[in-house]
Formats: sequence, C-alpha cells, structure tokens
Amino acid sequence: MLNIREVKARIESMQDYSGSLRVFRLRLADDFSFAPGQFVMLSIPGLVDSNGRKIAKAYSISSSPDEKTLELCIVHYQNGALSPPLFKMPAGSEVTVTGPYGLFVLKEPVPLGAVFIAGGTGLAPILSMLRFLYSKGFKGKLWLFYSMSEPRLFLFRDELLGYQKNNGLQLVASTSNPGANWLFEKGRVTDAFPGHAAKIPKDSGFYLCGPPAMVIDTVKMLEELGYKKENIHREQW
Ligand SMILES: Cc1cc2nc3c(=O)[nH]c(=O)nc-3n(C[C@H](O)[C@H](O)[C@H](O)COP(=O)(O)OP(=O)(O)OC[C@H]3O[C@@H](n4cnc5c(N)ncnc54)[C@H](O)[C@@H]3O)c2cc1C
Repeated sequence: MLNIREVKARIESMQDYSGSLRVFRLRLADDFSFAPGQFVMLSIPGLVDSNGRKIAKAYSISSSPDEKTLELCIVHYQNGALSPPLFKMPAGSEVTVTGPYGLFVLKEPVPLGAVFIAGGTGLAPILSMLRFLYSKGFKGKLWLFYSMSEPRLFLFRDELLGYQKNNGLQLVASTSNPGANWLFEKGRVTDAFPGHAAKIPKDSGFYLCGPPAMVIDTVKMLEELGYKKENIHREQW
C-alpha cells in the first residue's frame, strides 16, 4: 500500500482535444509514488463549496510512474464545480493533488495476452499501465479495445499507433460516429470485440474502464462469451 500524500503541483502544459476534454501535465513539488491505474483527488487552492469545504475531484493518472510529470485527462462540465475554474487557469497555476487512491492496478505478473478495454477518458488509467509496461520493455502480446464518442476524441492516437507498430499492441479503435475519414472499426466496444474473440483465450485477464453503462454492457458480453468473471478488473465513473 502506497502512502497517501498531499502535494502541490503546477500546470506545466495543456492540450485540448475538443472544447470539453483537456490533457493536463502537472509538475509536482515533491516526490509522489503511485501504481499504474490509480487516481488522485485534484483541488484548486481556495476553491470551496457553499459550506466552505474544499472541492476535490477524482482523476485517473494517465502518465507512467516513471515519468517526471503527472498527466490527467479531464472532461469539462459546464455546471461542474471543479472543471470550469480549472479550465480557466493558465499554465504555471498551482493546484493540489492528493493520493494515490484506487485498487484498479495491474496484477503481477501481467499475463500474456492481457486485454485492456477503454471507453472515452477511461483510457487514462489503462494508458498509464501500457506506458509503464512498454517503458519496462514488456514484450508480450497485449490487446487494447478503445472506443470514443467521436473521432476527434481519439486520445493519444499517434502514441497508440506507435505501440501497435513497434510493440505489437493489438489495437482495436472504434466509434459509433465515424464520419467520412475514419480508418478503424465502427460501433461500440461491444460491437468490435466479438469479431476478435476467437483470437482471445478464455482465461485472459481483462482491465476495463469507462462510463458505467459501457462497463456493465461489456462485462455482460464478456461473460456471455465465456470469459471468467474473476479475471475481469474494472473501474467506472
Ligand atoms: C476513480 C475515478 C476516476 C476518475 N477519473 C476521471 C478522469 O480521468 N477524467 C475525468 O474527466 N473524470 C474522471 N472521473 C470523474 C470525475 O471525478 C467527475 O466527473 C467529477 O465529478 C467532475 O467534476 P466537476 O467538478 O468538473 O463536475 P461536477 O460538479 O461533479 O458535475 C459534473 C456534472 O454533473 C452535473 N451535476 C452536478 N451536480 C448535480 C446534481 N446534483 N444533479 C444533477 N446533475 C448534477 C453538473 O452539471 C455536471 O454536468 C473519475 C471519477 C472517479 C470516481
């Protein structure tokens, strides 16, 4: 169990994927250890609710523990308590992270043929796992089924295509709203997965993260296809 710490951080850089999804890189003022798949509670100094209580929200870490900065992929909610003020902050601003939290972590040893399934920003903790494994020279076969609501929300597309080309990642990207230039699969994860199931052994380990409806539907599909419930690790929000 890693110690939970509160650490000050500065926003080092930001990258927008659309008006409502931004990737933040944070430079932490102190050491911060976490396991791939865990999350932090993020707060803004002085931001409190109507009762004067500090506002803090959970965000999965998408960077690998061996990186120098902490990366978070954050959705903007128009009436949200934290994301609107956060999206107004310029680079260099100070925030606070507390953590790490969460049990959605890689089981050791990672079985060959592990299957990662991500919906939307559910990619974040899974990307942390993939980055960690590949940075350690992991050579085994891994699958990533990744669905997004529209092509412009294909997070870290070039990096993932690089893992496909150079590390043997079996990448199956899909969207229900493909548009004209979409080169990947059409539909949700539950549409894309069955066509590949014959290549995925029944005792495979699964790491699944995304919106609750997607996670529920995907677990149901996996169980119907004969995969073992105890091998399906999941996180949802
Ligand atoms: C373990 C974990 C990991 C997570 N990782 C991520 C991540 O990597 N990226 C990410 O973007 N999110 C992540 N989340 C989700 C994130 O913590 C929440 O979406 C968070 O609530 C957003 O905070 P906010 O202050 O911006 O919006 P909130 O204030 O929480 O509001 C969110 C939305 O709900 C609406 N709302 C708020 N209160 C009410 C109400 N009473 N009734 C009806 N609607 C209401 C708001 O209008 C808004 O549209 C994670 C959550 C968990 C639990």
